[in-house]
Amino acid sequence: MWCYMALFVQRGPLLVLLIQPCRTGESQEFRRRTSCQISVRNPGILPSLEDLLFYTVAEGQDTIPAHKFLTALKGTGLLTGDPRLKECMDTLKETLKESADGVTLDRHLFKKCVQSNIVLLTQAFRKKFVIPDFLPFTSHIDELYESAGKLTGGQVADYIPQLAKFSPDLWGVSLCTVDGQRHTVGDTKVPFCLQSCVKPLKYAVAVHDHGTEYVHSFIGKEPSGLRFNKLFLNEDDQPHNPMVNAGAIVCTSLIKVNKYWGAGRGVSCLFNHERILFDRFQSERESGDRNFAIGYYLKEKKCFPEGTDMTSVLDFYFQLCSIEVTCESASVMAATLANGGICPITGERVLSPEAVRNTLSLMHSCGMYDFSGQFAFHVGLPAKSGVAGGILLVVPNVMGIMCWSPPLDKLGNSVRGIQFCTVHLVELFNFHNYDNLRHFAKKYDPRREGGDQRVKSVINLLFAAYTGDVSALRRFALSSVDMEQRDYDSRTALHVAAAEGHIEVVRFLLEACKVNPAPRDRYVLKPLQVNVFVN
Ligand code: GLU
Repeated sequence: MWCYMALFVQRGPLLVLLIQPCRTGESQEFRRRTSCQISVRNPGILPSLEDLLFYTVAEGQDTIPAHKFLTALKGTGLLTGDPRLKECMDTLKETLKESADGVTLDRHLFKKCVQSNIVLLTQAFRKKFVIPDFLPFTSHIDELYESAGKLTGGQVADYIPQLAKFSPDLWGVSLCTVDGQRHTVGDTKVPFCLQSCVKPLKYAVAVHDHGTEYVHSFIGKEPSGLRFNKLFLNEDDQPHNPMVNAGAIVCTSLIKVNKYWGAGRGVSCLFNHERILFDRFQSERESGDRNFAIGYYLKEKKCFPEGTDMTSVLDFYFQLCSIEVTCESASVMAATLANGGICPITGERVLSPEAVRNTLSLMHSCGMYDFSGQFAFHVGLPAKSGVAGGILLVVPNVMGIMCWSPPLDKLGNSVRGIQFCTVHLVELFNFHNYDNLRHFAKKYDPRREGGDQRVKSVINLLFAAYTGDVSALRRFALSSVDMEQRDYDSRTALHVAAAEGHIEVVRFLLEACKVNPAPRDRYVLKPLQVNVFVN
């Protein structure tokens, strides 16, 4: 720990601690995991995935303006700054220099740009992410944000002078899904301290390092029913849980400092590539009398592992409270918890599933100060609140959310954050843990596909051909649907499109999908003959 502390003192408040090398392109592991869902096409006979992606984005045009591609990408929830798309974006920048007008891509140039990230891009445009219709979902989030933003009231915490400086008007919400789709609204780039939102994180790291049994030989698992900073232990003379100060201080003493909190990897993955700054440590320490009192009490009661230097543990505790994040960066951390310990935008396993499961359980029962029971009742999701006004919220298997607004209610939770979670979010979406019980009134489930149903049968394919819906056909083709499927009359999509006179569909099927131009139906008719016959 001292080696870490020395590093901190040397570099001062701008210590950029948690940065890891960016991943470029798609790793073999990522391709292996996703390739089973995408059939390999035989180049030269069938169109490649790159071709199909071109047709999907170009929507019938011969070229794609770069901004159109980027807008379409944003619609899937992927950011251009996503480290998984680095190669694509770098190539795009270079390629535009080669293009005639500097802004438009023909098919050849487009394919060159997307080829290194084709698996991820195909997943995105096939609507295979957890929130398939991302834009409608985010406009709901924006409405909820606006509505909670109208609330006034609450007090900005001032017991730590640095916290008192924040404007009560600040309000931001960022989310990151388990597939790395991201959305952000409001003051999401303003740095603030994690404060108690770091508690679940350090507990998760402790369990990841030592296992459940060891960690809980020092700390309990019960809600305390008391203020978070009470000088109080349970019947076994242990802190009640890791989400109150006494438990978090003991937990801090269990963390292997060099591995996780020294310069390097580990927890850095939780925060991904965002800059994590350490600041406000002094302010925190100078106003930390209560925590010193708790520290001495814990020491007296022999709550720490043998040989622990309590004062250095406290220093480390203050530093962890002072980690500065933004809503954007912290939402990736929450998403890593939602994703069972794997960072969605690097694909790296950061925490063991055991550590994540424990953490979410304790966030659920003890994460929201003396509002924890009510929060579990109304919202039914694991969350952790901090005195700087942050609420780290996890929708398991779906997304992580960070809400931040400094004014706090009487129990120490962000007024707007609570409104956003308790009133708005779970009223609209079926995210509460028990929303999906049988016979329960249905709420909006953004995990389901809306207008773009998956093709489960030839009927969907033929219906798209019948209505002339080329964009649906493009998506089916991109999803490796067999475009030559036949119905009970042995009719193909080409038969139907020809019969209906949908020239654009016929052209797409012949030119892009390269389907057989002359399949025979049950009456031995080819598409051209069906067209003549019908018309
Ligand atoms: N710095 C705070 C303390 O230990 C953390 C408080 C909080 O966010 O709950 O007092």
